[in-house]
Amino acid sequence: MRGTVLYGPRDIRFEDRPEPTIGQPTDAIIRLSATCICGSDLWPYRGIQRIAQPIPMGHEYCGIVEEVGREVRNIKTGQFVVGSFATSDNTCVICQHGYQSSCVQREFMSTAQASLLRVPLADGTLVATSDLPSKELIPSLLATSDVLGTGWFAADAAKVKPGSTVLVVGDGAVGLLGVLSAKQMGAERVIAMSRHASRQKLALEFGATDIVTERGDEGVARIKDLTKGIGCDSVLECVGTQESMMQALKSTRPGGYIGYVGVPHGVALDGEQLFFAHVHLHGGPAPVRRYLPQLIGLVLDRKINPGKVFDLTLPLDQVAEGYRAMDERRAIKTLLRPNGTK
Ligand SMILES: [Zn+2]
Repeated sequence: MRGTVLYGPRDIRFEDRPEPTIGQPTDAIIRLSATCICGSDLWPYRGIQRIAQPIPMGHEYCGIVEEVGREVRNIKTGQFVVGSFATSDNTCVICQHGYQSSCVQREFMSTAQASLLRVPLADGTLVATSDLPSKELIPSLLATSDVLGTGWFAADAAKVKPGSTVLVVGDGAVGLLGVLSAKQMGAERVIAMSRHASRQKLALEFGATDIVTERGDEGVARIKDLTKGIGCDSVLECVGTQESMMQALKSTRPGGYIGYVGVPHGVALDGEQLFFAHVHLHGGPAPVRRYLPQLIGLVLDRKINPGKVFDLTLPLDQVAEGYRAMDERRAIKTLLRPNGTK
């Protein structure tokens, strides 16, 4: 088969790779219906996160089970499944507390931009639908695998509830789906920070009530203006830079909550500033597995359409163009169709 490998900054290749096989009796092999490029894939792509050797790419996936190991009980050949970017047994004490992305047996998925994928701990990692979903739902089901699950966690960690005033920092796909998530959780006001017309439009479609284009101190001042000088109840930090974290910290009302899901790059918090901010901070790699059954249900019931974040669809063998389009911000998020699937 062929799969995606990053060789160095902006050097993505689609090349021959060994077909995955069952290695552990708890593994499953799935044939991907669709995969995609994550905003976090751009960190190594841009060379900001260094890589020591070529690395296979991709951690968002859904597809049809081809084969399961002899100890897999719940997942069956022929089922349509979605899984998280982090594997989990879904039974350890950490999983029982709902933090499957820190499971004691966790591995991070990293070979999903390919046509076939090995999924470890299949019973605990994958969620199957009862029937094969109709084709037009595939993008939204794929979105639950990471980008929606991550936006959802940001909103959940930021304790969004009916009536909340919410700020979303970051207009990437996760931030946009953070808007959708906050809306689903009953937020009364959702302020999205964005300077890009196409992203503003999608934020409004997903339920944003206000758009703020200012950044830095001006951005903070604007948020304060919009909240009678108080700040927001819940802030979703969906970028991972010093600037975005400071934006979040200074825009939260005392006693408010920050859900931070942007993978931090060079973020440092000042203890004294943190002390006097008086906020709750909760974040990390989203425990997507906890939310998958609920999110898949919302998609199958056509209550939400998170697949709208995919504004570019390419055949998998054009994956390099998919990265370029996201790197240059021509695309919000690229969906990849393994060749031969329609
Ligand atoms: Zn576990």
